[in-house]
Amino acid sequence: MNNFTYIRAASVKDAVQRATADKDAMFIAGGTNLVDRLKVFLDEPSQLIDISRLQMQRIERMPNGGLRLGSLVSNTAVADHADVRRDYPLLSRAILSGASQQIRNMATLGGNLLQRTRCPYYYDTAFPCNKREPGTGCPAATGINRMHAIFGASDQCVAVHPSDMCVALAALDAVVDVEGPKGKRQIPFADFHRLPGNAPQRDTNLEMGELIAAVSLPPVPFAKSGVYLKLRDRTSYAFALVSVAAAVDLEGDNIKDVRLAMGGVAHKPWRPTEAEKFLIGKPANAATFQQAAEIALRGAKPLAHNGFKIELAKRAIRRALTVSAKGGGVV
Ligand code: SF4
Repeated sequence: MNNFTYIRAASVKDAVQRATADKDAMFIAGGTNLVDRLKVFLDEPSQLIDISRLQMQRIERMPNGGLRLGSLVSNTAVADHADVRRDYPLLSRAILSGASQQIRNMATLGGNLLQRTRCPYYYDTAFPCNKREPGTGCPAATGINRMHAIFGASDQCVAVHPSDMCVALAALDAVVDVEGPKGKRQIPFADFHRLPGNAPQRDTNLEMGELIAAVSLPPVPFAKSGVYLKLRDRTSYAFALVSVAAAVDLEGDNIKDVRLAMGGVAHKPWRPTEAEKFLIGKPANAATFQQAAEIALRGAKPLAHNGFKIELAKRAIRRALTVSAKGGGVV
């Protein structure tokens, strides 16, 4: 294990300056994934920059009616916030479907976006892994891969993103507010995480020294009927085999607008935009939802052990759309 220094950042500017000056520095807040990785030497930073006491811990109403969630707000505080529960229940339910109460109390919103895949080969340093050490290989591609991707994988990496929260944020078209050495910028959620391509070691499009300051949720009135459905091997404390965030806006019996995102199927939250386009203007019934599910899974490329995810995802989409169209609630 490498020795590292621990520094408590005095301000966001201080944190950014320190991280920009040292390419091997890492930020730490809740530490619920990073400390696990440190323990098995996946990350060996030169310094840990503790940002946990910085002023990014508020949930604020934005002038446009949306919500701005500070990146250091705990997962529990986001899930339990009255405005989140009322206006974005799919986000609250997605968070509560993940981890345990103790972990959610420690974990932060920004850290949730930055957690890394739980591909077992990545965590087991007895195996090679392109994400851990580029150019060494991807044993999951030909090994045990029932938890792995059916969309967007490359010959370099077939891992999936583990977050539930991020699936809901993708469906809500959230925006990530970032502060870095070149100042502030906003990254649309769809552009925040990356597909593996030829650089599976990079999970996000953050540049060196950049810090997540907040995540902004635009107003989405029909998100009040949004739902989150997570399917997994056991009913708690397990990552998704497949998950679906859905929100349906009805005008009479027809679909006026819709949001759909999937988890457990790709290296980033997966937005089946063709299925969303298909749904607009169609009657909200079982046949429509079945067709949308078929469209959403077009182009899926299963590996040796995860072909079951295709049918599972279709059923999850149908179920989530049906419940949302009826007003939402627990799926
Ligand atoms: Fe590593 Fe990605 Fe392959 Fe898993 S899927 S072994 S994380 S390269």
